[in-house]
Amino acid sequence: MKSVAIIGAGITGLTAAFYLKRKGAPVTVYEAGGRAGGVIQSSRQNGFLAESGPNTILETSPKITRLIRDAGLESRRLNTSPQAGARYVVCHQRPITMPSSQLGIFTSKLLSAKTKLALLREPFIPARRDGKDESVAEFVVRRLNQEFLDRLVDALVAGIYAGDPHKLSVLQAFPRLKMLEDKYGSLIKGQFFGARERKKTGEVTRDHAPKFSFDEGLQVLPDTLAAQLGDSLKLNTPVTKLTQTGDGWCVTTAAGDAEFGAVIYCGTAYKLAELLIEAAPQRRPTETFSEISYPPVASVVLGFRREDVAHSCQGFGMLIPKIEGFKILGTIFSSALFPNRAPAGYLNLTSYVGGARYPELASLPPDKLVEVVLADLRLLLGVKGKPTFIHTAFWPKAIPQYNVGYGKYRELLNDIEAKTPNLFFAGHYRDGVSLGDSIVSGVNIAERVAKIF
Ligand SMILES: Cc1cc2nc3c(=O)[nH]c(=O)nc-3n(C[C@H](O)[C@H](O)[C@H](O)COP(=O)(O)OP(=O)(O)OC[C@H]3O[C@@H](n4cnc5c(N)ncnc54)[C@H](O)[C@@H]3O)c2cc1C
Repeated sequence: MKSVAIIGAGITGLTAAFYLKRKGAPVTVYEAGGRAGGVIQSSRQNGFLAESGPNTILETSPKITRLIRDAGLESRRLNTSPQAGARYVVCHQRPITMPSSQLGIFTSKLLSAKTKLALLREPFIPARRDGKDESVAEFVVRRLNQEFLDRLVDALVAGIYAGDPHKLSVLQAFPRLKMLEDKYGSLIKGQFFGARERKKTGEVTRDHAPKFSFDEGLQVLPDTLAAQLGDSLKLNTPVTKLTQTGDGWCVTTAAGDAEFGAVIYCGTAYKLAELLIEAAPQRRPTETFSEISYPPVASVVLGFRREDVAHSCQGFGMLIPKIEGFKILGTIFSSALFPNRAPAGYLNLTSYVGGARYPELASLPPDKLVEVVLADLRLLLGVKGKPTFIHTAFWPKAIPQYNVGYGKYRELLNDIEAKTPNLFFAGHYRDGVSLGDSIVSGVNIAERVAKIF
Protein backbone atom coordinates (compact mmCIF):
# COMPACT_ATOMS: atom_id res chain seq x y z
CA MET A 1 0.00 0.00 0.00
CA LYS A 2 1.05 3.61 -0.58
CA SER A 3 2.07 5.82 2.31
CA VAL A 4 -0.51 8.11 3.93
CA ALA A 5 0.01 11.42 5.76
CA ILE A 6 -2.61 12.24 8.37
CA ILE A 7 -2.86 15.83 9.54
CA GLY A 8 -4.13 16.18 13.13
CA ALA A 9 -3.81 13.78 16.08
CA GLY A 10 -7.29 14.38 17.48
CA ILE A 11 -9.51 11.32 17.81
CA THR A 12 -10.41 11.40 14.08
CA GLY A 13 -6.80 11.33 12.87
CA LEU A 14 -5.71 8.75 15.45
CA THR A 15 -8.62 6.43 14.58
CA ALA A 16 -7.88 6.72 10.84
CA ALA A 17 -4.17 6.06 11.47
CA PHE A 18 -4.91 3.05 13.70
CA TYR A 19 -7.01 1.29 11.06
CA LEU A 20 -4.82 2.21 8.08
CA LYS A 21 -1.78 0.86 9.91
CA ARG A 22 -3.63 -2.39 10.67
CA LYS A 23 -4.35 -2.70 6.95
CA GLY A 24 -0.62 -2.42 6.24
CA ALA A 25 -0.35 1.21 5.08
CA PRO A 26 2.71 3.16 6.21
CA VAL A 27 1.20 6.18 8.04
CA THR A 28 2.71 9.39 9.41
CA VAL A 29 0.57 11.57 11.70
CA TYR A 30 1.43 15.28 11.95
CA GLU A 31 0.18 17.17 15.00
CA ALA A 32 0.63 20.91 15.51
CA GLY A 33 0.39 20.67 19.31
CA GLY A 34 2.63 18.95 21.84
CA ARG A 35 0.23 16.10 22.72
CA ALA A 36 -2.19 13.66 21.10
CA GLY A 37 -5.96 13.79 21.60
CA GLY A 38 -6.99 17.24 20.26
CA VAL A 39 -9.75 18.56 22.54
CA ILE A 40 -9.73 15.37 24.64
CA GLN A 41 -7.76 16.26 27.77
CA SER A 42 -8.04 14.43 31.10
CA SER A 43 -5.91 15.16 34.16
CA ARG A 44 -5.83 13.75 37.68
CA GLN A 45 -4.94 15.98 40.64
CA ASN A 46 -5.56 15.48 44.39
CA GLY A 47 -7.86 12.51 43.75
CA PHE A 48 -10.09 14.44 41.30
CA LEU A 49 -10.21 13.56 37.62
CA ALA A 50 -10.84 16.65 35.49
CA GLU A 51 -12.00 16.49 31.88
CA SER A 52 -11.14 19.78 30.18
CA GLY A 53 -12.93 18.82 26.96
CA PRO A 54 -15.42 16.03 26.35
CA ASN A 55 -16.68 13.88 29.26
CA THR A 56 -18.33 10.86 27.67
CA ILE A 57 -18.54 8.95 24.40
CA LEU A 58 -22.01 8.14 23.14
CA GLU A 59 -21.96 4.64 21.64
CA THR A 60 -24.21 5.42 18.68
CA SER A 61 -22.52 3.02 16.25
CA PRO A 62 -21.03 -0.50 16.34
CA LYS A 63 -17.89 1.07 14.82
CA ILE A 64 -17.23 2.78 18.16
CA THR A 65 -17.59 -0.52 20.04
CA ARG A 66 -15.20 -2.14 17.57
CA LEU A 67 -12.51 0.52 18.02
CA ILE A 68 -12.51 0.04 21.80
CA ARG A 69 -12.21 -3.74 21.31
CA ASP A 70 -9.53 -3.48 18.60
CA ALA A 71 -7.50 -1.06 20.72
CA GLY A 72 -7.58 -3.59 23.59
CA LEU A 73 -9.40 -1.18 25.90
CA GLU A 74 -12.47 -3.22 26.90
CA SER A 75 -11.10 -3.86 30.39
CA ARG A 76 -10.48 -0.12 30.99
CA ARG A 77 -13.87 1.00 29.69
CA LEU A 78 -16.35 2.37 32.25
CA ASN A 79 -20.04 2.66 31.44
CA THR A 80 -21.97 5.42 33.19
CA SER A 81 -23.46 4.10 36.42
CA PRO A 82 -27.17 3.15 36.32
CA GLN A 83 -27.97 5.94 38.84
CA ALA A 84 -26.61 8.45 36.32
CA GLY A 85 -29.56 7.91 33.95
CA ALA A 86 -31.59 10.91 35.17
CA ARG A 87 -30.99 14.21 33.43
CA TYR A 88 -32.18 17.49 34.83
CA VAL A 89 -33.33 20.61 33.07
CA VAL A 90 -33.74 23.89 34.90
CA CYS A 91 -37.33 25.10 35.02
CA HIS A 92 -38.48 28.10 37.11
CA GLN A 93 -35.07 28.33 38.79
CA ARG A 94 -34.69 24.71 39.87
CA PRO A 95 -33.51 21.49 38.25
CA ILE A 96 -36.37 19.12 37.46
CA THR A 97 -36.12 15.67 35.86
CA MET A 98 -35.94 15.89 32.08
CA PRO A 99 -38.60 13.73 30.39
CA SER A 100 -36.95 10.75 28.70
CA SER A 101 -39.92 9.37 26.74
CA GLN A 102 -42.95 10.67 24.88
CA LEU A 103 -45.15 9.60 27.81
CA GLY A 104 -42.78 11.35 30.21
CA ILE A 105 -43.20 14.61 28.29
CA PHE A 106 -46.96 14.48 28.91
CA THR A 107 -46.59 13.95 32.65
CA SER A 108 -43.66 16.38 33.13
CA LYS A 109 -44.08 19.78 34.80
CA LEU A 110 -41.61 21.21 32.29
CA LEU A 111 -44.24 21.99 29.67
CA SER A 112 -47.65 23.65 29.93
CA ALA A 113 -50.93 22.02 28.85
CA LYS A 114 -50.80 24.22 25.72
CA THR A 115 -47.48 22.67 24.66
CA LYS A 116 -48.71 19.15 25.42
CA LEU A 117 -51.63 19.86 23.07
CA ALA A 118 -49.15 21.10 20.45
CA LEU A 119 -47.41 17.71 20.73
CA LEU A 120 -50.70 15.91 20.06
CA ARG A 121 -51.24 18.13 17.00
CA GLU A 122 -47.69 17.60 15.65
CA PRO A 123 -48.45 14.51 13.49
CA PHE A 124 -51.03 16.61 11.59
CA ILE A 125 -48.71 19.55 10.76
CA PRO A 126 -47.77 19.22 7.08
CA ALA A 127 -44.10 18.55 6.29
CA ARG A 128 -42.16 21.41 4.69
CA ARG A 129 -40.87 20.29 1.31
CA ASP A 130 -39.60 23.50 -0.33
CA GLY A 131 -35.96 22.74 0.56
CA LYS A 132 -35.52 25.85 2.77
CA ASP A 133 -32.50 25.64 5.08
CA GLU A 134 -34.46 26.33 8.29
CA SER A 135 -32.94 27.15 11.66
CA VAL A 136 -33.61 24.76 14.54
CA ALA A 137 -35.78 27.47 16.15
CA GLU A 138 -37.91 27.96 12.99
CA PHE A 139 -38.35 24.21 12.62
CA VAL A 140 -39.37 23.63 16.26
CA VAL A 141 -41.78 26.57 16.39
CA ARG A 142 -43.35 25.50 13.08
CA ARG A 143 -43.89 21.88 14.17
CA LEU A 144 -44.45 22.47 17.92
CA ASN A 145 -44.30 25.87 19.63
CA GLN A 146 -42.19 28.58 21.24
CA GLU A 147 -42.35 27.06 24.71
CA PHE A 148 -41.02 23.70 23.48
CA LEU A 149 -38.11 25.63 21.93
CA ASP A 150 -37.41 27.85 24.94
CA ARG A 151 -37.75 25.24 27.69
CA LEU A 152 -36.37 22.05 26.13
CA VAL A 153 -34.70 22.43 22.72
CA ASP A 154 -32.65 25.49 23.71
CA ALA A 155 -31.22 23.54 26.68
CA LEU A 156 -30.41 20.48 24.52
CA VAL A 157 -28.74 22.64 21.87
CA ALA A 158 -26.57 24.25 24.57
CA GLY A 159 -25.59 20.76 25.77
CA ILE A 160 -24.54 19.44 22.35
CA TYR A 161 -23.25 22.47 20.39
CA ALA A 162 -22.98 25.21 23.05
CA GLY A 163 -24.96 26.76 20.22
CA ASP A 164 -27.85 29.08 19.36
CA PRO A 165 -30.99 27.37 17.98
CA HIS A 166 -31.83 30.54 16.03
CA LYS A 167 -28.58 30.13 14.05
CA LEU A 168 -28.05 26.35 13.83
CA SER A 169 -29.47 24.68 10.72
CA VAL A 170 -31.85 21.82 11.49
CA LEU A 171 -30.75 20.01 8.33
CA GLN A 172 -27.01 20.33 9.06
CA ALA A 173 -26.96 20.13 12.86
CA PHE A 174 -29.84 17.70 13.51
CA PRO A 175 -30.25 15.82 10.21
CA ARG A 176 -32.22 13.05 11.93
CA LEU A 177 -35.00 15.47 12.91
CA LYS A 178 -35.31 16.74 9.34
CA MET A 179 -35.19 13.15 8.05
CA LEU A 180 -38.07 12.19 10.37
CA GLU A 181 -40.17 15.02 8.95
CA ASP A 182 -39.21 14.19 5.34
CA LYS A 183 -39.73 10.43 5.66
CA TYR A 184 -42.63 10.09 8.10
CA GLY A 185 -44.20 13.55 7.90
CA SER A 186 -43.93 13.92 11.66
CA LEU A 187 -41.36 13.74 14.48
CA ILE A 188 -43.71 11.75 16.73
CA LYS A 189 -44.59 9.19 14.05
CA GLY A 190 -40.94 9.03 12.99
CA GLN A 191 -39.75 8.27 16.53
CA PHE A 192 -42.06 5.27 16.57
CA PHE A 193 -41.36 3.84 13.10
CA GLY A 194 -37.65 4.81 13.08
CA ALA A 195 -37.00 2.61 16.12
CA ARG A 196 -37.91 -0.51 14.11
CA GLU A 197 -35.45 0.37 11.34
CA ARG A 198 -32.59 1.11 13.72
CA LYS A 199 -33.01 -2.33 15.25
CA LYS A 200 -32.06 -3.77 11.86
CA THR A 201 -28.90 -1.65 11.36
CA GLY A 202 -27.59 -1.74 14.94
CA GLU A 203 -27.47 2.11 15.03
CA VAL A 204 -28.89 3.78 18.15
CA THR A 205 -30.13 7.33 18.69
CA ARG A 206 -28.34 9.74 21.01
CA ASP A 207 -31.11 9.38 23.64
CA HIS A 208 -30.70 5.62 23.91
CA ALA A 209 -26.98 5.23 23.28
CA PRO A 210 -24.84 3.89 26.14
CA LYS A 211 -22.35 6.47 27.43
CA PHE A 212 -18.86 5.56 28.55
CA SER A 213 -15.35 6.68 29.40
CA PHE A 214 -12.26 4.93 30.81
CA ASP A 215 -10.73 4.40 34.26
CA GLU A 216 -8.41 7.41 33.85
CA GLY A 217 -10.74 9.46 31.67
CA LEU A 218 -11.17 9.82 27.92
CA GLN A 219 -7.46 10.58 27.40
CA VAL A 220 -6.85 6.81 27.73
CA LEU A 221 -8.19 6.33 24.19
CA PRO A 222 -5.94 8.80 22.29
CA ASP A 223 -2.96 7.81 24.47
CA THR A 224 -3.45 4.14 23.55
CA LEU A 225 -3.88 4.87 19.83
CA ALA A 226 -0.89 7.26 19.85
CA ALA A 227 1.36 4.71 21.61
CA GLN A 228 0.85 2.28 18.72
CA LEU A 229 2.17 4.87 16.27
CA GLY A 230 5.61 5.21 17.85
CA ASP A 231 7.88 7.48 15.78
CA SER A 232 5.27 7.89 13.06
CA LEU A 233 3.50 10.45 15.27
CA LYS A 234 5.20 13.82 14.76
CA LEU A 235 4.21 16.19 17.60
CA ASN A 236 4.81 19.97 17.46
CA THR A 237 4.84 19.68 13.68
CA PRO A 238 2.16 21.83 11.99
CA VAL A 239 1.65 21.16 8.29
CA THR A 240 1.70 24.45 6.39
CA LYS A 241 1.45 23.40 2.74
CA LEU A 242 0.37 20.50 0.56
CA THR A 243 1.65 20.32 -3.01
CA GLN A 244 0.30 17.87 -5.54
CA THR A 245 3.05 15.76 -7.12
CA GLY A 246 2.59 13.25 -10.00
CA ASP A 247 0.04 10.99 -8.33
CA GLY A 248 0.66 11.90 -4.70
CA TRP A 249 1.42 14.75 -2.31
CA CYS A 250 4.35 16.65 -0.86
CA VAL A 251 3.71 17.65 2.78
CA THR A 252 5.56 20.74 4.03
CA THR A 253 6.40 21.32 7.70
CA ALA A 254 9.16 23.30 9.45
CA ALA A 255 11.17 20.03 9.44
CA GLY A 256 11.14 19.94 5.61
CA ASP A 257 9.19 18.22 2.84
CA ALA A 258 8.03 14.59 2.70
CA GLU A 259 6.29 12.65 -0.10
CA PHE A 260 3.14 10.55 0.37
CA GLY A 261 0.65 8.69 -1.79
CA ALA A 262 -2.35 10.27 -0.02
CA VAL A 263 -3.19 12.90 2.61
CA ILE A 264 -6.10 12.93 5.06
CA TYR A 265 -6.83 16.27 6.73
CA CYS A 266 -8.24 15.64 10.23
CA GLY A 267 -7.64 19.09 11.75
CA THR A 268 -10.04 21.95 12.41
CA ALA A 269 -11.89 24.10 9.86
CA TYR A 270 -10.12 27.30 10.97
CA LYS A 271 -6.68 25.69 10.52
CA LEU A 272 -7.74 24.29 7.14
CA ALA A 273 -8.34 27.93 6.14
CA GLU A 274 -4.60 28.59 6.72
CA LEU A 275 -3.37 25.50 4.86
CA LEU A 276 -2.06 26.12 1.35
CA ILE A 277 -3.19 23.40 -1.03
CA GLU A 278 -1.29 23.76 -4.30
CA ALA A 279 -2.89 21.56 -6.94
CA ALA A 280 -3.43 21.81 -10.68
CA PRO A 281 -4.88 23.87 -12.26
CA GLN A 282 -4.96 26.27 -9.27
CA ARG A 283 -4.65 26.59 -5.47
CA ARG A 284 -7.73 25.16 -3.68
CA PRO A 285 -9.99 27.82 -2.09
CA THR A 286 -9.61 26.95 1.61
CA GLU A 287 -9.75 30.55 3.03
CA THR A 288 -13.54 30.40 3.17
CA PHE A 289 -13.41 27.84 6.03
CA SER A 290 -12.33 30.68 8.35
CA GLU A 291 -15.96 31.88 8.24
CA ILE A 292 -17.11 28.83 10.23
CA SER A 293 -18.01 29.92 13.73
CA TYR A 294 -16.35 28.10 16.67
CA PRO A 295 -17.56 29.99 19.78
CA PRO A 296 -15.33 29.90 22.85
CA VAL A 297 -16.19 27.64 25.81
CA ALA A 298 -14.67 27.40 29.28
CA SER A 299 -14.99 24.25 31.36
CA VAL A 300 -14.90 24.63 35.12
CA VAL A 301 -14.38 21.52 37.24
CA LEU A 302 -15.14 22.08 40.92
CA GLY A 303 -14.84 19.66 43.85
CA PHE A 304 -17.06 20.02 46.92
CA ARG A 305 -17.52 18.17 50.19
CA ARG A 306 -20.68 16.06 49.82
CA GLU A 307 -22.26 17.77 52.84
CA ASP A 308 -21.74 21.21 51.24
CA VAL A 309 -24.18 20.49 48.37
CA ALA A 310 -27.92 20.18 49.10
CA HIS A 311 -28.85 18.52 45.76
CA SER A 312 -28.24 14.76 45.49
CA CYS A 313 -26.28 15.28 42.21
CA GLN A 314 -27.27 11.73 41.30
CA GLY A 315 -27.78 11.75 37.55
CA PHE A 316 -26.01 12.79 34.38
CA GLY A 317 -26.24 16.50 35.03
CA MET A 318 -28.43 19.52 34.36
CA LEU A 319 -29.00 21.64 31.27
CA ILE A 320 -30.07 25.25 31.49
CA PRO A 321 -32.19 27.02 28.87
CA LYS A 322 -31.36 30.70 28.24
CA ILE A 323 -34.84 31.78 29.35
CA GLU A 324 -33.89 30.91 32.97
CA GLY A 325 -31.29 33.71 33.06
CA PHE A 326 -28.31 31.76 34.47
CA LYS A 327 -24.78 32.19 33.13
CA ILE A 328 -23.66 28.57 32.96
CA LEU A 329 -24.85 26.43 30.04
CA GLY A 330 -25.04 23.27 32.11
CA THR A 331 -23.28 21.08 34.66
CA ILE A 332 -22.24 17.43 34.48
CA PHE A 333 -22.39 15.49 37.75
CA SER A 334 -19.06 13.84 36.94
CA SER A 335 -18.69 11.96 40.25
CA ALA A 336 -22.11 10.33 39.75
CA LEU A 337 -21.18 9.14 36.25
CA PHE A 338 -18.03 7.16 37.02
CA PRO A 339 -16.14 5.95 40.11
CA ASN A 340 -12.84 7.66 41.01
CA ARG A 341 -13.76 11.10 39.64
CA ALA A 342 -13.57 12.47 43.22
CA PRO A 343 -12.23 11.18 46.56
CA ALA A 344 -14.75 9.45 48.85
CA GLY A 345 -17.11 11.97 50.44
CA TYR A 346 -16.61 14.58 47.67
CA LEU A 347 -18.47 15.61 44.51
CA ASN A 348 -16.96 16.51 41.13
CA LEU A 349 -19.15 18.96 39.15
CA THR A 350 -18.12 20.08 35.64
CA SER A 351 -19.80 23.25 34.33
CA TYR A 352 -19.57 24.95 30.94
CA VAL A 353 -19.58 28.71 30.32
CA GLY A 354 -19.70 30.72 27.10
CA GLY A 355 -20.68 29.15 23.78
CA ALA A 356 -22.79 31.03 21.25
CA ARG A 357 -25.05 32.18 24.14
CA TYR A 358 -22.49 34.18 26.16
CA PRO A 359 -19.15 34.04 24.25
CA GLU A 360 -17.71 36.95 26.27
CA LEU A 361 -17.94 35.01 29.56
CA ALA A 362 -15.74 32.11 28.43
CA SER A 363 -12.57 34.24 28.42
CA LEU A 364 -13.00 35.56 31.99
CA PRO A 365 -9.91 35.00 34.15
CA PRO A 366 -10.12 31.71 36.12
CA ASP A 367 -11.04 33.34 39.48
CA LYS A 368 -13.93 35.31 37.91
CA LEU A 369 -15.06 32.23 36.01
CA VAL A 370 -15.24 30.26 39.25
CA GLU A 371 -17.27 33.10 40.86
CA VAL A 372 -19.75 33.03 37.97
CA VAL A 373 -20.17 29.26 38.22
CA LEU A 374 -20.41 29.26 42.02
CA ALA A 375 -23.14 31.94 41.98
CA ASP A 376 -25.29 29.73 39.73
CA LEU A 377 -24.52 26.47 41.56
CA ARG A 378 -25.47 28.06 44.91
CA LEU A 379 -28.94 28.85 43.60
CA LEU A 380 -29.47 25.71 41.56
CA LEU A 381 -27.85 22.96 43.64
CA GLY A 382 -27.72 24.54 47.10
CA VAL A 383 -23.91 24.66 47.17
CA LYS A 384 -22.48 26.12 50.41
CA GLY A 385 -18.92 27.10 51.19
CA LYS A 386 -15.89 27.04 48.91
CA PRO A 387 -14.83 24.40 46.42
CA THR A 388 -12.02 22.15 47.64
CA PHE A 389 -10.77 21.55 44.09
CA ILE A 390 -10.67 23.89 41.06
CA HIS A 391 -9.61 23.17 37.49
CA THR A 392 -10.50 25.48 34.58
CA ALA A 393 -9.82 25.20 30.85
CA PHE A 394 -10.45 27.74 28.10
CA TRP A 395 -11.17 26.71 24.52
CA PRO A 396 -10.96 29.86 22.36
CA LYS A 397 -12.46 27.87 19.47
CA ALA A 398 -14.44 24.95 20.84
CA ILE A 399 -17.16 23.41 18.67
CA PRO A 400 -18.01 24.30 15.03
CA GLN A 401 -21.52 25.63 14.59
CA TYR A 402 -23.43 23.92 11.79
CA ASN A 403 -25.39 27.13 11.22
CA VAL A 404 -27.85 27.90 8.42
CA GLY A 405 -25.77 27.88 5.21
CA TYR A 406 -23.26 25.30 6.51
CA GLY A 407 -24.16 23.05 3.58
CA LYS A 408 -21.96 25.17 1.31
CA TYR A 409 -18.84 24.24 3.31
CA ARG A 410 -19.65 20.55 3.09
CA GLU A 411 -20.25 20.93 -0.66
CA LEU A 412 -16.89 22.67 -1.06
CA LEU A 413 -15.14 19.81 0.79
CA ASN A 414 -16.88 17.30 -1.52
CA ASP A 415 -15.87 19.39 -4.52
CA ILE A 416 -12.19 19.70 -3.50
CA GLU A 417 -12.05 15.96 -2.79
CA ALA A 418 -13.65 15.10 -6.14
CA LYS A 419 -11.26 17.34 -8.11
CA THR A 420 -8.09 16.63 -6.10
CA PRO A 421 -7.11 12.95 -6.21
CA ASN A 422 -5.78 11.33 -3.02
CA LEU A 423 -6.65 14.26 -0.72
CA PHE A 424 -9.35 13.52 1.88
CA PHE A 425 -11.16 15.38 4.66
CA ALA A 426 -12.55 13.91 7.88
CA GLY A 427 -13.52 14.96 11.38
CA HIS A 428 -15.80 17.13 13.47
CA TYR A 429 -16.09 19.99 10.94
CA ARG A 430 -17.52 17.61 8.33
CA ASP A 431 -19.10 14.48 9.83
CA GLY A 432 -20.76 15.58 13.09
CA VAL A 433 -19.52 17.26 16.25
CA SER A 434 -19.64 14.45 18.82
CA LEU A 435 -16.71 12.22 19.77
CA GLY A 436 -18.64 9.23 18.46
CA ASP A 437 -19.15 11.02 15.12
CA SER A 438 -15.40 11.70 14.93
CA ILE A 439 -14.54 8.05 15.63
CA VAL A 440 -16.97 6.90 12.91
CA SER A 441 -15.51 9.54 10.58
CA GLY A 442 -11.98 8.19 11.23
CA VAL A 443 -13.07 4.57 10.67
CA ASN A 444 -14.89 5.45 7.44
CA ILE A 445 -12.06 7.51 5.96
CA ALA A 446 -9.57 4.70 6.68
CA GLU A 447 -11.85 2.28 4.82
CA ARG A 448 -12.19 4.66 1.85
CA VAL A 449 -8.46 5.31 1.57
CA ALA A 450 -7.56 1.61 1.97
CA LYS A 451 -9.94 0.72 -0.87
CA ILE A 452 -8.39 3.04 -3.43
CA PHE A 453 -4.79 1.89 -2.81
C1 LIG B 1 -15.30 21.66 25.71
C2 LIG B 1 -15.78 20.53 24.83
C3 LIG B 1 -16.62 19.54 25.37
C4 LIG B 1 -17.06 18.49 24.56
N1 LIG B 1 -17.86 17.51 25.13
C5 LIG B 1 -18.18 16.42 24.40
C6 LIG B 1 -18.78 15.28 25.01
O1 LIG B 1 -18.95 15.22 26.24
N2 LIG B 1 -19.12 14.22 24.22
C7 LIG B 1 -18.89 14.23 22.87
O2 LIG B 1 -19.26 13.27 22.20
N3 LIG B 1 -18.27 15.27 22.26
C8 LIG B 1 -17.89 16.35 23.00
N4 LIG B 1 -17.18 17.37 22.40
C9 LIG B 1 -16.85 17.29 20.96
C10 LIG B 1 -15.71 16.30 20.64
O3 LIG B 1 -14.78 16.28 21.69
C11 LIG B 1 -15.00 16.69 19.35
O4 LIG B 1 -15.91 16.85 18.31
C12 LIG B 1 -13.96 15.66 18.88
O5 LIG B 1 -13.08 15.33 19.93
C13 LIG B 1 -13.22 16.23 17.67
O6 LIG B 1 -12.14 15.40 17.31
P1 LIG B 1 -11.29 15.73 16.01
O7 LIG B 1 -10.19 14.75 15.96
O8 LIG B 1 -12.19 15.79 14.82
O9 LIG B 1 -10.74 17.22 16.21
P2 LIG B 1 -9.76 17.86 17.30
O10 LIG B 1 -9.87 17.20 18.62
O11 LIG B 1 -10.00 19.34 17.22
O12 LIG B 1 -8.30 17.55 16.73
C14 LIG B 1 -7.78 18.19 15.60
C15 LIG B 1 -6.25 18.20 15.75
O13 LIG B 1 -5.69 18.66 14.51
C16 LIG B 1 -4.55 19.44 14.81
N5 LIG B 1 -4.25 20.28 13.64
C17 LIG B 1 -5.05 21.20 13.05
N6 LIG B 1 -4.43 21.73 11.95
C18 LIG B 1 -3.21 21.13 11.86
C19 LIG B 1 -2.11 21.26 10.96
N7 LIG B 1 -2.13 22.12 9.93
N8 LIG B 1 -1.02 20.47 11.17
C20 LIG B 1 -0.96 19.58 12.19
N9 LIG B 1 -1.99 19.45 13.09
C21 LIG B 1 -3.10 20.20 12.92
C22 LIG B 1 -4.96 20.23 16.05
O14 LIG B 1 -3.83 20.71 16.76
C23 LIG B 1 -5.76 19.17 16.82
O15 LIG B 1 -4.95 18.47 17.76
C24 LIG B 1 -16.69 18.45 23.18
C25 LIG B 1 -15.84 19.42 22.64
C26 LIG B 1 -15.37 20.46 23.46
C27 LIG B 1 -14.43 21.48 22.87
